[in-house]
Amino acid sequence: MSEEAARFLNGPHRAFIKGAFTDEGAGEAIAVHDPATGRVIAEVPEYGAAGVEAAVVAARAALEGPWSRMRPADREKLLLDLATAIEADGALLAELETLENGKSIGIARGLGVGGSVEWLRYFAGWATKIEGSSYDTSIAVPPGSHHFSATIKEPVGVVAAIVPWNFPLLMGIWKIAPALACGCTVILKPAEETPLTALRLAEIAARVGLPEGVLNIITGRGSVTGAALTAHPGVDKITFTGSTEVGQMIGRKALDTMTRFTLELGGKSPMIICADADQGQEPLMAGLGMFFNQGQVCTSASRLLIEKSVYDRTLEALAGVADSMTLGSGLDPKAQINPLVSARHRNRVNGFIERAEAAGARRICGARTLPEGGYFVAPTIFDGVSSEMEIVQEEVFGPVVAAMPFTDLDEAIRLANDSRYGLAASIWTRDLNKAFHASRALKAGTVWVNSHNTVDANAPFGGYKQSGIGREHGRAALDAYLESKTVIIRYS
Ligand code: NAD
Repeated sequence: MSEEAARFLNGPHRAFIKGAFTDEGAGEAIAVHDPATGRVIAEVPEYGAAGVEAAVVAARAALEGPWSRMRPADREKLLLDLATAIEADGALLAELETLENGKSIGIARGLGVGGSVEWLRYFAGWATKIEGSSYDTSIAVPPGSHHFSATIKEPVGVVAAIVPWNFPLLMGIWKIAPALACGCTVILKPAEETPLTALRLAEIAARVGLPEGVLNIITGRGSVTGAALTAHPGVDKITFTGSTEVGQMIGRKALDTMTRFTLELGGKSPMIICADADQGQEPLMAGLGMFFNQGQVCTSASRLLIEKSVYDRTLEALAGVADSMTLGSGLDPKAQINPLVSARHRNRVNGFIERAEAAGARRICGARTLPEGGYFVAPTIFDGVSSEMEIVQEEVFGPVVAAMPFTDLDEAIRLANDSRYGLAASIWTRDLNKAFHASRALKAGTVWVNSHNTVDANAPFGGYKQSGIGREHGRAALDAYLESKTVIIRYS
């Protein structure tokens, strides 16, 4: 561990409200663990109703104060400055993300920090491009009058952003960047397992001169801090990424006050491998699609549908890749599979494996000796499964995949769509007709052809069915942070 990281871990760690770190409303300390060793590396306070109240008041004051009068070009510049400062701090941010989450330092650096910088720069550009429309209307009251009609886009207001632990920094930036570009103010609540990168982000935001109250960061468990935040009447918009169960609960409560909400939820994404797919793609399929970030990716390929004629051969090759992946700490750049985020989550994933075996599924890889101390699960593939099994229907959110054969594309699509989720899907084929047909027929927010798990700041992202409501990224993300006001002017 670097000296800088050790110094940061020593703290103190406090919420960031109204441009300053504060103990006001701090409650019980929550331990943050290093998933590679199980050691406690930091303690971060939990904030309840009083802390949430302070954050909402700060965000509201900023919204109604200088932030609302700031020129879009100045908001753009601040987002660009934030991106540059994050880039400069990248080594420490990535190390903290690996220490709190367990993930590979390469992924933390490339996607965690690199992605955050890219998304901020992308949305900085949108700050100066927000626009409404003008409309030809047929209003004839009073007779002979003329009307000019147009929409004005306005920031939705105070945004509560609640994010999971799988990509702690990037998930926060996916919400902060478009929200600030649109002129909203934000209260971010990171997951209780991974609050450290968010607190480092607060230091960076203060350093670049983000006006006080524009970005507030508050820590604690979902059942305490998250619940207080989402129930607060001063919040205008909730943007949530996490499990479908919690998302449903948040959505139901939000309707009581008509608080706007966007939900990015779970998935059980299929990867369809056709017999005519390019040969030798198994390392990419496994490394990028199935086991990237230990399968702790909402779009992870957790259901494999393989054409019957190549089923045995493909499965054998994928199992070979899985069993050859090196397990180790995220700080070891050679390790390809790192620990899961927590002991609790590791036990949950192992529970899925045990129940799948008990239900008669056949584990074709993944039974091997694990490194000691950390929360490891080896990449695991199940064969001999059927549609109604838990391992085929429920999101595991770990390196565990269920494989099934199909005879033709219609059957593959039927199996792929046989899920309550609809976040993403991929098809691997050289046949353009199959690729287009599947892209239309799959009920999923994203369909990849000959790829899996790739995202872009300009490409909308979100779920069909129970995988969510709304879209992030691209122009589509702006809708989540803007209200549309129609102005009708009668003139003579
Ligand atoms: P989770 O739902 O348990 O927690 C997510 C966040 O919600 C955390 O910050 C948590 O503290 C908070 N939370 C929990 N209960 C709450 C409550 N009652 N009120 C308010 N906030 C509450 O999910 P998790 O285990 O942290 O993350 C894994 C899940 O996230 C998976 O289902 C995964 O698919 C999903 N995910 C979805 C996307 C996407 O973009 N669709 C991306 C990443 C992860």
